[in-house]
Amino acid sequence: MWLNKKGVKMKSMVTYGLYFVVVVIFSVSLFASELVFLDNEHIQEHHGVQGKWYQINSKNQLDTLVMKHEVELNEVLRVNSVANIKNLLNTYVFIPYSEKCIKELEAKGLGRKAIECKDDQFIWPLADVSVLTSVFGLRWGEIHPGLDMPVPRGTIVRAAKDGRVIAVGYAGGYGKEIVIEHRNNFITRYAHNSVNFVKVGDLVRRGQAIGLVGSTGRSTGPHLHFEIRLNEIPLDPLDFLPENPSLQVNEHRLKNWR
Ligand SMILES: [Zn+2]
Repeated sequence: MWLNKKGVKMKSMVTYGLYFVVVVIFSVSLFASELVFLDNEHIQEHHGVQGKWYQINSKNQLDTLVMKHEVELNEVLRVNSVANIKNLLNTYVFIPYSEKCIKELEAKGLGRKAIECKDDQFIWPLADVSVLTSVFGLRWGEIHPGLDMPVPRGTIVRAAKDGRVIAVGYAGGYGKEIVIEHRNNFITRYAHNSVNFVKVGDLVRRGQAIGLVGSTGRSTGPHLHFEIRLNEIPLDPLDFLPENPSLQVNEHRLKNWR
């Protein structure tokens, strides 16, 4: 085939163009990551709205919070998926914050920490885990299907990955638990909680506060029991969680069931 100079140039431009597209697609798929906001004691998220969970004991307390955070009562009802104010009393309620309130908290340095995270990466469900009291594997003659993280009662429990809540409630030895379904047949379980914020069917975002640590069920002290399961089969969460250099574990207990 004979090509004039212009033809050769055209051909190489197309080749380089294709090469560029392939490199871009490859890079995007390799480094696809997003900013994940980690809920803290001051700013939390629920149904895509920023605010904070409060234990509401009276109508007076509710009115005061609504006024202080410049939010409409209707918006509180909507975000909490309830029709009546009565349903907001004597329970945990999510109070949305106005943009101004959020900005003020951020200015005080109380804003949420944001971390860059790969799409498929699980994150630690607690802010500071430095010790594990039980790892995954054989314990007292039976399989311990997760990690036990001892932290003070009331510590915020965060969703380890985006997903949909499929179980909330009291489940025997697990006590007050939350189970979240994720993509590709993974589920995560958060057990022994003192409070569960979310309800079955809620869509949750990675890093979102879903409950508070407690010691309900078969538990000897406040801790989070955390599981990752694939097709119902429990897997070692340490194989999926990001490296945690400050973590102290009894090394010989790691993988002791294999
Ligand atoms: Zn456990």
